[in-house]
Amino acid sequence: AALYNVDGWGGPYFSVNAAGNISVRSHGSATLSHQEIDLLKIVKKASDPKSVGGLGLQFPLIVRFPDVLKNRLECLQSAFDYAIQSEGYGSHYQGVYPVKCNQDRFVVEDIVKFGSPFRFGLEAGSKPELLLAMSCLCKGNPDALLICNGFKDAEYISLALVANKLALNTVIVLEQEEEVDLIVELSKKLCIKPVIGLRAKLRTKHSGHFGATSGEKGKFGLTTAQILRVVKKLDLAGMLDCLQLLHFHIGSQIPSTALLADGVGEAAQIYCELVRLGANMRVIDIGGGLGIDYDGSKSCDSDISVGYSLDEYAAAVVRAVQCVCDRRSVKNPVICSESGRAIVSHQSVLVFEAVGTSSTVGGASSLAFSSPYLAGDLSEDYRFLSEAAFGGDYERCLVYTEELKERCVEQFKQGTVCMEQLAAVDGLCELVRKAVGAGEPVRRYHVNLSVFTSIPDAWGIEQVFPIIPIHRLDEKPSVRGILSDLTCDSDGKIDKFINGESSLPLHEVDGGGYYLGMFLGGAYEEALGGFHNLFGGPSVVRVSQSDGPHSFAVTRAVPGPSCGDVLRVMQHQPELMFETLKHRAYEYVSQDNAAVLASGLARTFDRMPYLVPLSSFEEAAFPVSD
Ligand code: PLP
Repeated sequence: AALYNVDGWGGPYFSVNAAGNISVRSHGSATLSHQEIDLLKIVKKASDPKSVGGLGLQFPLIVRFPDVLKNRLECLQSAFDYAIQSEGYGSHYQGVYPVKCNQDRFVVEDIVKFGSPFRFGLEAGSKPELLLAMSCLCKGNPDALLICNGFKDAEYISLALVANKLALNTVIVLEQEEEVDLIVELSKKLCIKPVIGLRAKLRTKHSGHFGATSGEKGKFGLTTAQILRVVKKLDLAGMLDCLQLLHFHIGSQIPSTALLADGVGEAAQIYCELVRLGANMRVIDIGGGLGIDYDGSKSCDSDISVGYSLDEYAAAVVRAVQCVCDRRSVKNPVICSESGRAIVSHQSVLVFEAVGTSSTVGGASSLAFSSPYLAGDLSEDYRFLSEAAFGGDYERCLVYTEELKERCVEQFKQGTVCMEQLAAVDGLCELVRKAVGAGEPVRRYHVNLSVFTSIPDAWGIEQVFPIIPIHRLDEKPSVRGILSDLTCDSDGKIDKFINGESSLPLHEVDGGGYYLGMFLGGAYEEALGGFHNLFGGPSVVRVSQSDGPHSFAVTRAVPGPSCGDVLRVMQHQPELMFETLKHRAYEYVSQDNAAVLASGLARTFDRMPYLVPLSSFEEAAFPVSD
């Protein structure tokens, strides 16, 4: 656990149990140890077709924990409730979940259900997101907010006005100045009195990667001059009382409460100014940005960590709003936040299998010093190196090793050294490096996964997630490795890990069955993932705590998209493709074998694009005799 800093980033949901496996405390309580669930047991149940109750799902696999999601929501709410009570703040907190972080139907439905007791709502940033938010909120608390953000056209605004008509507590937030004209016109046409918010472009700038669009020159929101023009337009239209919410978003992963308080304080001033200008202000919506400590370092100087707790975040927000509003004798507004990352990151774990390794340099297995290939000049080199190593002259050993290698590669290119000789030299150099303690070579672990589909931020913005084996954690890792995915793309790799490491301590893969987990990736990764090389999303299981010690129930199990499904995404027609291939089979092989081939082809269209385990070899091969 210490090697991978599980206690640092995992608490209170993930720890290591006595069997050396990751255990999940889905209720977030360290004291209820009998409720811990062994992640490996879940994975076995989900993937094994042979065990009793085994579901036979293919890897990669997302394991979702709705209980973790519930706990995250409750913790966020209680952090604000506590801050509001202890500061004597004059209103309440009412959050929304930005569905863009993970639009999965069950995740959003769970949030609406779990958040209903405290009026938790949803935020949408596009027309389809708004449609899903509207339909989910029909089953939610009628007071829950439906915040409509993002760039809007007449169709988006009409849809938001319809939401209002359907008694959903809808706020249309102006992202651009022109949207106000559309709102005025359409609301009059549809005879609906809308609730309007506006997004302010703050001067406060978050300097990390996730703050690139914040500050005066940022991409989003209205400038001071634009806000003043909007107020004037609404006043002229007799709709200034519709303006009730001020929104801003400093950026994701806000590193410190100092920056947070600075931004919230600036926004609170704008809020008070809008009150002064006659708007009917009620809500301050502080956007997202509540961060996640991906590496457990609790640092304010990194994009992957944050230097505050949930309670400290809530207290900083409440104090900053209260301080400004009280000073200006403005009634304390309802505080809304749009935390996405902080709500959904922990609830899912991506589990994938390492299917084999290859050494980046010649492995020990290629060492053959008695081999005839180290004859002639090379045996001289061998003798020289051994003597230097024995004599403790490590520096010279290493320099000479590099020279030897370079020389042999050159000779190989000229055709004077054969492949076996080159392999023997690689092996010799490897042995010398080991002997002089120049560090273990880093191995490439092939993983049954697409980085582009399942961890796109690792590729796109070099984000680091905690990735560790989910078992054998009581066994000292003997190797260091980087992860290399299935795609035919050299960027399909992970070579940045927490603690600033460029490789990961790993165990030997003894014929498969070595499982790794990517944690804290429940936000953004699924939503952003693509179809590179036509690899689709993972299989998904939902797992809930059930009665009895360490017991769990799989409440839903869905295989990932099949080859046919991903082909359809690119406009292919799997049914027609199958017919074409089947027809060809009957042309080229005997009737009996054509039938076997056709059923094999049909099965491939139905299977996920990922590697099937060796246990499915018989099924995967198409046994034909001619
Ligand atoms: N609200 C808005 C307007 C955003 O742009 C974002 C994300 O960038 C969020 C909320 C969610 O932010 P986070 O996931 O950091 O909480």
